[in-house]
Amino acid sequence: MPDAIDAQGTYDVVVVGGGPAGSTAASLLVKRGHRVLVLERESFPRYHIGESLVTGMIPVMEELGVVDELEARFNPKRGITLVWGNDPQPWRTDFAAAGGAYDHSWHVTRSEFDELLLNNARKLGAQVVEEAQVTEVLTDSGGAVAGVAYTHQGRTHRVGSRFVVDASGQNRTVTRKLTQVSWQEDLRNVAVWGYFASYKPIEAPGDILVEAIEGGGWMWGIPLSETELSLGYVLSVDKMTEATRQGRSQREVFTEGLAASRVAKTMVDAGDIGELRTTRDWSHVSDRFHGPGWVAVGDAACFIDPLFSSGVWLATSGAWLASRAIDAALSDPVQQDTALERFDGVYHQLFNDILGYVRYFMNPNRLREDYLERAQQVTRMYTENSRVGFISLISGIKALPELVSFDPMGLEGMQEILQARAAAVAKEE
Ligand code: FAD
Repeated sequence: MPDAIDAQGTYDVVVVGGGPAGSTAASLLVKRGHRVLVLERESFPRYHIGESLVTGMIPVMEELGVVDELEARFNPKRGITLVWGNDPQPWRTDFAAAGGAYDHSWHVTRSEFDELLLNNARKLGAQVVEEAQVTEVLTDSGGAVAGVAYTHQGRTHRVGSRFVVDASGQNRTVTRKLTQVSWQEDLRNVAVWGYFASYKPIEAPGDILVEAIEGGGWMWGIPLSETELSLGYVLSVDKMTEATRQGRSQREVFTEGLAASRVAKTMVDAGDIGELRTTRDWSHVSDRFHGPGWVAVGDAACFIDPLFSSGVWLATSGAWLASRAIDAALSDPVQQDTALERFDGVYHQLFNDILGYVRYFMNPNRLREDYLERAQQVTRMYTENSRVGFISLISGIKALPELVSFDPMGLEGMQEILQARAAAVAKEE
């Protein structure tokens, strides 16, 4: 239920969107003592795609204090089974191979997962208003973002804040207006998916199945529970457009993809295909993830084809970094530029590492060893078990030390601040 609105209030931070990126950023900022308002246009629980999570997002979930609840509510995900590359035999890697504390994550029903995170933000002290659509980004006389206008129950409100976090997902409420976005032309894909009320598990039942489809595209199989399977087909927009031109429906395209699979088709009865959903999933990135008075996290900042289920990890990791950068900037405005630049740099790097690898992997005709070797090169993890680099990269575990130790200021930053302060003092004199 929507909270009462403090329409007169001025907040330290207004967060646009209550998905995983928004609720994570809000929670971490209230934990650091800031006044936070989350504006979410839907009423939760609401449907969302993006159901398979990687272990790299668990540390931030620990910081949010929700891991026990995730453990109690969702199906464990142990690893990834692939039908990919020149050799048609399925191969797999589990999260445990990356070492460390996290041997599983979860397959989640996103309506429940997102609601859990948003309620947690409320519990921690964020003010959350649902059915509140942000319609305008407000700026001050110097052009810095200084708040938003939103509609709620037929009325328009304006709210001021020292920062606005754009966590509005593919809607890109702020970044659409303030940045240039690059669409990755080679990853202009579309997804069609549905749910099966019963299925036959694969050999490693806790795994996500990721299968290249002969003729183009790939399929996911996500065991949401012991009975429910999410099954999706990702294919290029060109292939879908061609099918439409030939008069074939999305259902026919999905059915053909399933029939062309080796493993996915053994999991379900094609006669059980029910309602199908579809969305475009073009990978994209904004040229900047911040500007004066604003920061972008999650799909509002960048998005990569879901081949390795990186979306929620990227979204919550970005929120984790952003919360520390905003905290530093709010504590001392002189720190703002340095803190936000650093956040932007680290976040872009996370994105680029995964994007580069997804691009390489998207070619399904390479040798398995080549995929593994490339992951070793990217991660610089040359271990005896060549799958360690691969799973460390796609689980987000490789990036963890950098995320955990992210210091928006650091020594270098302190020097910049001291110089800025000295310059300001000199100017005053
Ligand atoms: P969202 O979850 O989209 O949340 C944004 C919120 O902002 C929404 O609740 C929306 O209602 C709200 N909002 C939007 N505009 C406004 C506004 N103007 N005012 C107020 N509120 C607003 N990721 C994974 O990790 N694993 C997967 O298996 C996976 N599979 C995927 C499959 C497909 C086909 C696609 C397309 C994506 C998949 N993803 C997956 C990616 C994942 O869905 C996203 O990366 C993730 O949801 C991003 O979280 P977010 O919080 O940035 O955005």
